[in-house]
Amino acid sequence: MKVVKAKDMPEERLATTDEHGWRVYIFPAYVKGFFRKWRNVVQAVLIAIFLLAPWIKIGGVQSILLDIPRRQFAFFGFTFWAHDTPILFFILLLSTLGLGFVTAIWGRVWCGWACPQTVFIDGVFRRIERLVIGSNLKQIKLAKQNWDREKITKYAIKWSLFILAGLIISHSFLAYFVGSDRLWIMMQSSPTENWLTFLFMFVITALILFDFTWFREQFCIIMCPYGRIQSLLMDDTSLAVIYDENRGEPRKAKDVPAEKQGDCVDCGRCVSVCPTGIDIRRGVQMECIACTACIDACDEIMTKVNKPKGLIRYDSVQGIQGKKKKILTPRLALYSLILTLGFSGLVYAVATKDSMDVTILRGNDKPYQVIEGTGDLTNHYKLVLKNRTSNEQEIRYEIREDFSGVEMIAPQNPISLKAGEHRRISFFLRFQPELTKGKGNVMVPMVFYGNKNGENLIEKEVSLVGPIE
Ligand code: SF4
Ligand code: SF4
Repeated sequence: MKVVKAKDMPEERLATTDEHGWRVYIFPAYVKGFFRKWRNVVQAVLIAIFLLAPWIKIGGVQSILLDIPRRQFAFFGFTFWAHDTPILFFILLLSTLGLGFVTAIWGRVWCGWACPQTVFIDGVFRRIERLVIGSNLKQIKLAKQNWDREKITKYAIKWSLFILAGLIISHSFLAYFVGSDRLWIMMQSSPTENWLTFLFMFVITALILFDFTWFREQFCIIMCPYGRIQSLLMDDTSLAVIYDENRGEPRKAKDVPAEKQGDCVDCGRCVSVCPTGIDIRRGVQMECIACTACIDACDEIMTKVNKPKGLIRYDSVQGIQGKKKKILTPRLALYSLILTLGFSGLVYAVATKDSMDVTILRGNDKPYQVIEGTGDLTNHYKLVLKNRTSNEQEIRYEIREDFSGVEMIAPQNPISLKAGEHRRISFFLRFQPELTKGKGNVMVPMVFYGNKNGENLIEKEVSLVGPIE
């Protein structure tokens, strides 16, 4: 493994590659400070939510469930099905535009504070490294060291904890897809009983270990699509982690007279704490994930040299240039408008969502049949019912009570459907030929009642076909 101190990185190429393009592994220094403290709190809360959400149930349904085989999705008490297209459309629209809106105002706050990549690497895996090996300097020393007893022992402990963390994360991740109840049963049974799930879990664990222990910042720099579109989403008014060049330059150097020196003492501390190995003094860069480590690092140095904090700070390009910040830009106004429309659409789609799908098709036999002996006629229908709720539902259907002259023959009425279940059944309508005389058909109103207490009424009309004469 090639090891280079981040401070020694050359300026003309990516800090995480050497002169031949090979990977350079970064060991960022740990820093304490205001942002570090709050990031610890946020990371602990997010990890707790991630681990606990699959085990919390609301109305008997897992709080967040993405059951792809059954095409059922649950979010904090709301259940959606794959064919709830308007709801899913509005959720996707709001998620995408919401991220754009947040980025336009607060820059890459998602990357630095809430992205699972950052939260797990920074909040779990780097912690394990510090716990087992120590500071970044000790980690560098051990990485360069021969495979002696100390290195083998420490690496064995580190990797045991890495694997344990990877397994906990992958099991929790899987619980969002298969459900925590099923996961618990699977965990107690042999892998041979759930080969596919076991393999899925194995692959996810391997990917987590690959990404969170080795690939790390490379994902943010070369693979993350969100990082790539930052320049489109941000402008001069967006917040970013910025070095105040006017205040810091010319930085301290032997050839710069003391009275001309800016506040930067060129200590390199901001570079040594950076998890992507960049020097923020070279300006806002795509590799910066806005983790704020360099803010805390520089504030620590400024305090030591009796200068005001904030040489590196959260600010906008306009703010650094001393321009007055605009609160509402055309971009933000447009985002706000579309988000408001999208949110209204989502509320409407959820409020008007039916608890069942009802489709009535005509039977593919004769348009009508004559019952021998009585002269009465029948029409045959196929009824397709789907329960769109997250509970078992008893569905009852009948001809609306103010419509007379037609009798319903339905062998399965009422019918009980489990959550998400759909069923196709047949029913017949019996009537006397006089009903359709002169017209050939009449529309018969039908009413469908869901739930056991008779709520969720849906009305449909079916065409009844008979002789014209
Ligand atoms: S430049 Fe600063 S904020 Fe950006 S990734 Fe590096 S340490 Fe984090
Ligand atoms: S930590 Fe602050 S003083 Fe030190 S090099 Fe970075 S910007 Fe300059």
